[in-house]
Amino acid sequence: MITSSLTLCLAIGWVAKREDRDGLRPLTYCLALHALTYCLYALRGRIPDLLSVWVANVALVSAFSFLIHAVGVFLERRISRWVLLTPVAVVALGFAAFMSNISARMAINGAVFLVQELILLGHLARALRESRGRGIYLLTAGVFLFFLVLAITAIAELSGSERIQSITDPTLAQSLRFLSAFVSLNLVSLGFVLMTKERADERTRQMAMKDKLTDCWNRFRIEEVAQQEMLRLARYGTPVSLIMIDLDFFKAINDQHGHGVGDQILKDFAATVQSCIRNTDVLGRWGGEEFIVLLPASSYFVTAAIAERIRAAVETAEHANGIRITASLGFSSCQSSDSWDAWLARADLALYRAKAEGRNRVEAEMPLLSEDSPSAPGVARLIWSREFETGNRMLDQQHRQLFEQANQLLGAMTGGASRQQIADRVASFLLAMEEHMLDEEALLEKLDYPDCEEHQAQHRRLIERARSLLERYARNELDLAELLHFVIYEFSAQHLLIEDGKYAPFVQRLTLAGR
Ligand code: GH3
Ligand code: MG
Ligand code: MG
Repeated sequence: MITSSLTLCLAIGWVAKREDRDGLRPLTYCLALHALTYCLYALRGRIPDLLSVWVANVALVSAFSFLIHAVGVFLERRISRWVLLTPVAVVALGFAAFMSNISARMAINGAVFLVQELILLGHLARALRESRGRGIYLLTAGVFLFFLVLAITAIAELSGSERIQSITDPTLAQSLRFLSAFVSLNLVSLGFVLMTKERADERTRQMAMKDKLTDCWNRFRIEEVAQQEMLRLARYGTPVSLIMIDLDFFKAINDQHGHGVGDQILKDFAATVQSCIRNTDVLGRWGGEEFIVLLPASSYFVTAAIAERIRAAVETAEHANGIRITASLGFSSCQSSDSWDAWLARADLALYRAKAEGRNRVEAEMPLLSEDSPSAPGVARLIWSREFETGNRMLDQQHRQLFEQANQLLGAMTGGASRQQIADRVASFLLAMEEHMLDEEALLEKLDYPDCEEHQAQHRRLIERARSLLERYARNELDLAELLHFVIYEFSAQHLLIEDGKYAPFVQRLTLAGR
């Protein structure tokens, strides 16, 4: 016991001298006092009882207090001085009062150790729930073993089945007690060292996955989470989306204000984005002034709302020297057939479009299947997905019908229909669109949707634009591609998915509440 305690004490103390953290130093003191205790026990009868009894037991109870302190430091919990010092005082005074009465001393010792053990186990139990490492299990096993021996001893003492006359009694029970204390010592030390090692490993792992400047995750982490979430999507159908963000004209900020200011803005920007996302979302720096937010369990609509929130927050934030920046965002939801690269590429495409459309805006990936549709080879189609649902049956049905009509229109436009046929189809599409908008506005008004007016204004703008496009097309002034663009980008992707997505959470909440 002495050799073991001393060896562990010197080895751990040597490590703690270089890296004083995680409670290794108090653990060293604990081991030193433990060694001292058993040295004094061993010299029993050859040195005064004051040393072999009083000092030895005060040293042992202090060793325990240091162990509790060490665990407290490791777990970053403040353990009151009273909790640490009271047991030492009780043993010191109690042993001084009952030097000649071994039963009384055993009772005091037993009671104090039990209390200390319970405190320790209480802290460890809470830590066990939070920790994933192995070290804490070893440590707890060691402490628990010691607790068990103490409890058995206490029961034997109380029932009178065994009376200990001296600590060095050559009985089987006493030998077992020493043996288990020895095992416990090794488990506790090994467990503790392993715990600190595991924590250091975790820190290294985190460092390898973090971007130094912004403290965001880096590509490794993003890809790791993305792969996990893609598996979840494949297995449980849980939607997952990602937003790509690129700062607008950031080179100019660097050129005007210097790289230092640029760096600071990147840090501020990361903090702004972080404040807009939920703690399950993962923000990573993809490189330079390009960032990715990965949103587990997030449908198209939720993502659209969060992307818009980010865009607005970035626009309003003010930086050093009163500098303001904007960002462009593109997002895409993962489809079960997607590879990581394909999914990312669609978000990248959306971002590219956001840049091309004038920056400081959110663009969605088109819900288009690039493959040929079976009925019309070479024709892309809009694909409706359950992720787009707003939660209101009527609106969802209309949205789905609009998608279907848009598909028919796409088919007609790319399938060689005559100009008149196309114009007719566009006219009937616009009619359906207007009808839907009226229904939608009525519903939003009824539900007291706060941004109802703004949404109505968007509808009016879209209708105006659609009518003027149709007129120009009829006058032969408009290319087919521009009509296509309106149907797919402006109305179906931008309005139905992004703008309507903004009220989806609101409508879903009310639907759940039974309104
Ligand atoms: P756009 O709106 O088209 O995105 O314009 P931009 O100027 O942001 O785009 P561009 O890709 O031309 O420039 C990106 C700039 O971001 C160039 C580089 O100086 C700056 N940048 C990238 N990484 C860092 C960084 O770590 N710190 C600083 N200060 N600037 C960075
Ligand atoms: Mg940029
Ligand atoms: Mg609408």
